[in-house]
Amino acid sequence: MRIDLHTHSNVSDGTDTPAALVDAARGAGLDVVALTDHDTLAGLPEARERARQVGIELLDGIEVSTQWQGTSVHLLGYGVRDDDEALNAELERLRASRAARIDQFAERFTELGLPLTADEIRAQIAPGASVGRPHVADALVAKGMVADRTEAFERYLADGGPGYVERYATELVQAIALIRAAGGVAVLAHPWGRGTESVLTEPVIAELAEQGLDGIEVRHQDHGPVKRLRLAELAGRLGLLATGSSDYHGTGKVNHDLGVNTTQPQVYRQIRERIAERSV
Ligand code: AMP
Ligand code: ZN
Ligand code: FE
Ligand code: FE
Repeated sequence: MRIDLHTHSNVSDGTDTPAALVDAARGAGLDVVALTDHDTLAGLPEARERARQVGIELLDGIEVSTQWQGTSVHLLGYGVRDDDEALNAELERLRASRAARIDQFAERFTELGLPLTADEIRAQIAPGASVGRPHVADALVAKGMVADRTEAFERYLADGGPGYVERYATELVQAIALIRAAGGVAVLAHPWGRGTESVLTEPVIAELAEQGLDGIEVRHQDHGPVKRLRLAELAGRLGLLATGSSDYHGTGKVNHDLGVNTTQPQVYRQIRERIAERSV
């Protein structure tokens, strides 16, 4: 069983449609794939339908943009009811804040001497998709200002970079509660990835476990071997589920191929069991 629990489609900042992503997952030899777009559940119906057709298991997912004391933290939610009112209201707030950033990005880059219009950014976004910095990167690539998303982030878009624009993010503890109340399982994405290692310390993760966090993503490309060992040990000590996943973005992120990291079948079974328990 090969299980990959963190991927993005073009319903947020990945480059494959949900159906193409499911096809790619099957092509990569996965048995289970979770679609976890940023702040939106909109890709799930298409992915579910395709998964049924091609005979692969889809786990419904989402990656929620949260903050811990002002630092951006990503939280994965699995198996949430997609008609949950409180969760959807919060997701709409997040997406509205994302959409409102487009004009600010255009102004900012124009000020930096790189003339960019809101329409040029919008041209990179699939209709109705959750907008992110990678779409701004794509607009810069389309104009020949940078070679690829990586260069766009390195030169302009990284946190605190000259082209960085803030957006709203849900309080982490509130996001855990929203996912749990919607019948889902909450897992911290790349807890010791860019910028989060210094804030998501072991005592903080222990506190989050008490607040209802179910698990942490241990095997992720942002974590080297030492971090993976330490996070696995921490998960064991705190009784948290330890997952592994690719964080695939299609052609939008290098070194994140489907199945590059995977989740153990017994961990996946526990996620499914918790979703079943919480659905009643
Ligand atoms: P946002 O949530 O719109 O502020 O943008 C953050 C997103 O940008 C992350 O979720 C990643 O998917 C993506 N990202 C961050 N750094 C890079 C990078 N160096 N190359 C490509 N995508 C990146
Ligand atoms: Zn992303
Ligand atoms: Fe993330
Ligand atoms: Fe992600």
